[in-house]
Amino acid sequence: MLLLNPGPVTLSERVRKSLLQTDLCHREPEFFDLQDEARRRLVAAYELDPAKWSAVLMTGSGTAAVESMIAGLVPEGGRLLVVENGVYGDRVAQIAQQYGIEYEVAKYEWMQAPDIDAIVRLLDTKKFTNVAIIHHETTTGRLNAIDALSRACAQRGVGLLLDAVSSFGAEAIDFDGGGIAAIAATANKCLHGVPGAAFVIARRDALAQAASRNYYLGIARLAKLQDARNTPFTPSVHAYYALVEALREFEEEGGWRARHARYAKLAEQVRAGLAALGMESALPPEESSVVLRAYRLPAGVTYETLHDALKAKGFVIYAGQGGLSKELFRISTMGALDANDMDRLISSFVELLR
Ligand SMILES: *Cc1c(COP(=O)(O)O)cnc(C)c1O
Repeated sequence: MLLLNPGPVTLSERVRKSLLQTDLCHREPEFFDLQDEARRRLVAAYELDPAKWSAVLMTGSGTAAVESMIAGLVPEGGRLLVVENGVYGDRVAQIAQQYGIEYEVAKYEWMQAPDIDAIVRLLDTKKFTNVAIIHHETTTGRLNAIDALSRACAQRGVGLLLDAVSSFGAEAIDFDGGGIAAIAATANKCLHGVPGAAFVIARRDALAQAASRNYYLGIARLAKLQDARNTPFTPSVHAYYALVEALREFEEEGGWRARHARYAKLAEQVRAGLAALGMESALPPEESSVVLRAYRLPAGVTYETLHDALKAKGFVIYAGQGGLSKELFRISTMGALDANDMDRLISSFVELLR
């Protein structure tokens, strides 16, 4: 079965086999070697300076990392502006609400791009300590343009908190713009690991001012103990095995730039194939990520029919979320997939629509 949903992804044999390594106690030096390697490789993935940036690992899915970042890195008494143009922006607002963080939402239609100029004006009229935005809004496949926002945040001393769960490892991330205080991501999307290990990469100066709003996901404690080759709880040891192997593979394959190029090719192959069958992508390619694209359902075909027929041929596609579930379906090209797989996918669509 090939997974075309936005994580978990189809594993390479190499990563799958890494799960079968020796049993490991998380209080032994071998585990801390593994933890150190994962943290080092995550910081290196975007060539960041380890003196300035720290990768903080945690056990959970991508949302755990987003929750840890929002609850920890909006300082005590801070105010958060949440940019929402999809399900994941809404989730960040719910997290802020849950933790009693003072926040406001700059809300846009789910098919729309956020108005960055208007958001920057908001930063000038009201006091915010932080802005949170989704990099790749997986709801629609839109890659939100963050560079101008990152620079505006840097100029105003506002910390940008980026949900990069479905972009880290495959899209350019503007760490040089100076505005990013932290990003949250997971092992099992563009990095091709298994679910269970997630992480925040945070500026060390932001970590030093972290609030203590949560217990298990408390980012300051996780960072401090991990820096001391320690861990507060039992981590998902096997997911760490897979993450480290996936990061080695990622580096050998050429890092995020090579992965970007590979996904871009596969995504274009699918877009062209479906367009030839009359199925248009929901967004123009230049506004979409290379990671996932949303397409309009063909007339008279329900998502369920399409999903079940493709599953019978070995492909798992993904539904639209919320109000978009009747209109869209989504295809991600993350994971161990190649051009032949996409050819077979398009052939399956052809047969099915005949
Ligand atoms: C997948 C995803 C998440 C996290 O979802 P989990 O199910 O917790 O892994 C968060 N944000 C974005 C943009 C995502 O694509």
